[in-house]
Amino acid sequence: MNLPWLNEITEQLRQDAMIGRLAHAYIVSGPSGTGKTLFCQHFAKTLLCMDKSETNSPCGSCASCSTFENSSNPDLLNICPADAGKSINIDQIRAVNEFYSYKPHYGTHKITLIHPATSMNTNSANALLKILEEPPEGALIMLIASSAGHLLPTIRSRCLNLRIPQPNWDIISAWLSDKLSISLSSLNNHATTLYGGPLEMLESINLDNGATSLFDGLLADLMSLSNGKCNAIEIAKNYNGAGIERFLDALELVISTTLLAIFQQSPSNLKLSKASSEKIVYLSGKYSEVKLFELGDLIKTSRELLLRSQGVRAQDIIDEIFISFMVRE
Ligand SMILES: [Zn+2]
Repeated sequence: MNLPWLNEITEQLRQDAMIGRLAHAYIVSGPSGTGKTLFCQHFAKTLLCMDKSETNSPCGSCASCSTFENSSNPDLLNICPADAGKSINIDQIRAVNEFYSYKPHYGTHKITLIHPATSMNTNSANALLKILEEPPEGALIMLIASSAGHLLPTIRSRCLNLRIPQPNWDIISAWLSDKLSISLSSLNNHATTLYGGPLEMLESINLDNGATSLFDGLLADLMSLSNGKCNAIEIAKNYNGAGIERFLDALELVISTTLLAIFQQSPSNLKLSKASSEKIVYLSGKYSEVKLFELGDLIKTSRELLLRSQGVRAQDIIDEIFISFMVRE
């Protein structure tokens, strides 16, 4: 697993495991595309391996590794939504107690991975909370989430949070250029904006199908809105409420990048295309920093609202956000 930005937390967990000081529960959080799930799976496979090498990587051939590879390792419990878009239900969480009622089959540990942990509904989150309050002997539970803040405070307080930071462009571009065998300059001149975690950028370069990315599309729409060529509700229709998390992430990035441009700085966590770079400069002349901070706050409140209120319509939130972006002169 050659993902250099994960080295630090890998080493941290390796040392905790070595001296027998692993916590009962961890939250592994970080932006999408940074490799949270890959990290947890690699860690689990290594911890369960019966023949770890000195470099602390799984051997790939013992009984534990072989069953791990075909998803039948009895010491690993993988909990994720049964279907995309569904929640993790209470029965899936209740299976955790049953899982820990038996001793490890191969080695000394048993691991539960819950991903994404934000897919738990209220009942399953409360059931997990009970388990975390009195963890079964030998329990090692890893919750994977884009942000620990998206989980109940009572769950958060019973887990150790391991945060994977978004690496900066220097680290990402070196990794991408190695991975894709292309030069740094061709990466820097990529036709579309590269944003999100490194794995997401890799995917969008591999997928390169000429389609406009969400980030570049948003910038173009905000340009039309700010120069009065389009109205807010019309533009809001382009964004389906179903992908609201991604929409809010991209918009937040547009706001922070525009703020940086006001202070004549460049973002370190993404690579703007030439066209989008010009649009950012334009927007930085249209919106004041105060306005941009207000818009950033609106996104935060929108996230809270989505998290806490049942029945709030994502499309209403999107409408309201675009209306707030309208420039009144
Ligand atoms: Zn092994």
